[in-house]
Amino acid sequence: MTETNTAEQNLQFQAEVAKLLDIVVHSLYSNTEIFLRELISNASDACDKLRYGAITDPKLLDDGGSAFEIHLSIDKTANTLTIADNGIGMTRDELIANLGTIAKSGTSEFMKSLSGDKAKDVSLIGQFGVGFYSSFMVADKVDVFTRKAGEAQGLRWSSDGKGSFTIAQDDTATRGAKIVLHMKKDAEEFLDKFRLRNIVKTYSDHIAVPVILDPAPGEKVKDGDTEKDASPETLNSASALWMRPKSEITPEQYKEFYHHVGHAFDEPWHTLHFKAEGAIEYTALMFIPSTKPFDLFNPDRKNNIKLYVNRVFISDQLEGLMPRYLRFVRGVVDSSDLPLNISREMLQDNPVLRKIQGGLVKRLLKDLKDRAGNADEYNKFWDVFGPVMKEGLYEDFERRDELLDLARFRSSLHDGWVSLKDYVGRMKEGQDFIYTITGEDAALLKNSPQLEGFMAKGIEVLLLTDPIDEFWSSSIGAYDKKSFKTVAMAGDDLSKIKGGDTDEKKEEDKSPASEQAIKDLIENLKKSLGTAVTDVRTTEKLKGSPVCLVADTAGMSLHMARMLKQHGEAGNLAIRKVLEINAKHALIKRLMVLSGTAFDDAAALLLDQARIIEGEPVADPVAFAKRLSAMLEKALV
Ligand code: ADP
Repeated sequence: MTETNTAEQNLQFQAEVAKLLDIVVHSLYSNTEIFLRELISNASDACDKLRYGAITDPKLLDDGGSAFEIHLSIDKTANTLTIADNGIGMTRDELIANLGTIAKSGTSEFMKSLSGDKAKDVSLIGQFGVGFYSSFMVADKVDVFTRKAGEAQGLRWSSDGKGSFTIAQDDTATRGAKIVLHMKKDAEEFLDKFRLRNIVKTYSDHIAVPVILDPAPGEKVKDGDTEKDASPETLNSASALWMRPKSEITPEQYKEFYHHVGHAFDEPWHTLHFKAEGAIEYTALMFIPSTKPFDLFNPDRKNNIKLYVNRVFISDQLEGLMPRYLRFVRGVVDSSDLPLNISREMLQDNPVLRKIQGGLVKRLLKDLKDRAGNADEYNKFWDVFGPVMKEGLYEDFERRDELLDLARFRSSLHDGWVSLKDYVGRMKEGQDFIYTITGEDAALLKNSPQLEGFMAKGIEVLLLTDPIDEFWSSSIGAYDKKSFKTVAMAGDDLSKIKGGDTDEKKEEDKSPASEQAIKDLIENLKKSLGTAVTDVRTTEKLKGSPVCLVADTAGMSLHMARMLKQHGEAGNLAIRKVLEINAKHALIKRLMVLSGTAFDDAAALLLDQARIIEGEPVADPVAFAKRLSAMLEKALV
């Protein structure tokens, strides 16, 4: 309605924003000065966006020019600090969406999940920053005057950050956005030139748009004995950081640039800055974070690389620029070999872009390989990003070997992370496979009956506990010519492998069950258990336990089936379950001489026990409890 559009509109912040603001105002950050970095960062992004828009629509620059600038001005009388840019600006709808809600994917869910425990919430919020809303750390009222490039009408957004904001038409607004901060009493320190100069140098020197400090109206400076009007002063270097020679960039500057480009607040775990020369030329500056980004497992799995063509920002949404398993990498790529004037959609499929991706991945993997030499440092990386990197084992067939080299695993025999190279180096004589077991928890897996035989022989098994493990491990093929095999399918391998202490169990072997007795038992178990299992067979894997339940060789693992079920994707998946028995176990031998209900009850109890150990539900809990009580009753006389 036009009517409401001309009048001042009063609107409520989205509930999550109100919550965020409450935390921002009351307890966030000891260094409030970062509000300036956030606002300058936004202003610079707004200039980038307009510069890109003007490639296809040069008229957008008619009013306001093509020299992009960010101006800071201090008004000590009014107690205000102003940050103004001549970038893209915002429409009314954009004001509401950008400065009234939390639009960034995942953030809103994240805010909802906060507990209300301030101390904890603050440290979590620190991870992703609060952008524009950080203004309210230093200001008790914020006005945003803005006019979208190409639009005739300007707007004013105002708020005291306490639940609501207003939007009204404003005829003074020029192209871009001007943020006026009405400073709190305890934040007047920021109305000081020296302070601002210092903050901009520290946090925003890398910003490619000039950040200019304007003199106050009528401000004079001494020039020898005479006084003259103070002139505007550019505070930053105002050149694209990635184009500067490496030798001229300090670690601090890299870090601040990372914070800007990656919307991050931690130290970069790795910084990679290089210029590719040859058929395709480009410069890349990329960072690997040291802490886990809160949106790492967002379903969209978007990458975080900004593409520039000759210093003009093009897009941070190009899927083709970085494979999904490297989506945690932050940074920029700038190339002069890409056309400026084609749409983002067309760029997506550009062969040059694909080549650049190849180059970026190659360099990243090489650096990771180098850094893997320092196990302590590398393990920190793997702790955070290992589960994501492993998606590459499934998705990037071409680089499978490299990725397998970089992968680290939990192991049945060693604490900490283990590489496949270590594993293969420790393989036993006669061992042809890399053995794995999948499940939810490494500590529980370590005690699985399925590992007993492996433990007894000192054969290492990799404990795979990430959901993605189910996917790659069944299709990965081999590493160093050794195939992967899950222990569920390895029942017969053990006798071929040398080593360990199998002799210890010789006691029981003095009276081994006859082959016929075992065959009969298997038949009887199949009859008794009916469709609850698809097969019954003996295994050498078990030592202390009488039975275990595994998925059939051709089927998927029980863990995988459970995962799919949790996601409602199992449908009527038929999972073939096999009961494996330890023919040397005293309990199994006793089973051979039972019959009738006693046999059926014992068989059912053993199956339920195997189910429980595998994390499967007991099919009929009441029947299970009855049988168990009956058995106990007999045993306890
Ligand atoms: P972020 O910058 O992380 O997206 P912010 O809360 O800082 O989060 O800003 C939200 C959105 O508001 C930005 O993504 C941008 O679309 C818009 N915005 C903020 N400042 C400006 C500005 N100076 N000019 C134009 N748009 C802006």
